[in-house]
Amino acid sequence: MTYFTSELPAIINWFFPSSCVQCHSPIKHCAALCDYCLEDLPLFNLAEHTNLLQRPDIYEMFPNCEFDSLFSCAFYQPPFDYWLKKLKFNNKIHYKVALQQVIQKQLIQLFFFSPTRPDIFIILPLHNSRFLARGFNQVSQVWQPLLSEYAPINKSLIRNKKTQAQSALSKAKRMKNLKGAFVCTQDMSDKTVAIIDDVMTTGATLNAATRALKEAGAKHVWAFTTCLTPL
Ligand SMILES: [Zn+2]
Repeated sequence: MTYFTSELPAIINWFFPSSCVQCHSPIKHCAALCDYCLEDLPLFNLAEHTNLLQRPDIYEMFPNCEFDSLFSCAFYQPPFDYWLKKLKFNNKIHYKVALQQVIQKQLIQLFFFSPTRPDIFIILPLHNSRFLARGFNQVSQVWQPLLSEYAPINKSLIRNKKTQAQSALSKAKRMKNLKGAFVCTQDMSDKTVAIIDDVMTTGATLNAATRALKEAGAKHVWAFTTCLTPL
């Protein structure tokens, strides 16, 4: 029995050999990126700006944010755009693990440098019908295991109507589409809350969620996103 326990990782590696999603060099089975590729990725430097809204180029791209602080890993560009698309439509575990390695690296940096940290995390909910059609919430699958060591995950933000896909709409229609899209069912007085989403495009969805949380009393709202779409 001891033999099998100690040899288990080697046996798993033998049956399921892993290679880095970027350079294809062999790696341990629980990873998807080797250390060199993880180091090489174009990630935001959070040591300089823990709140990315204080970075002038990012503030210029997203001047109308209603949340107070922004955390993100990188711009929506290769290889992250490819990984996110693969995950959304094929649910490929390799890309999930690669994204988790990236997010984990950035979270460690954030919590090392940031003076404030969230009391509560809320993963941006999909509307029920969209969740049922897809069968999984990819934001939740990627982020949930990483967040639990920092703060509890709360499910009191509800999507109370089915919105159209934002990408198909003009700016004015996006605003109308999202009016009253979220409601928070719990008192958030004096809480610092972080909303989690995968890609921020205009910030309109995160703004709508922020309004619901501020109406429920939240004193500080963070947006945590895997990527930001550059202008
Ligand atoms: Zn590599």
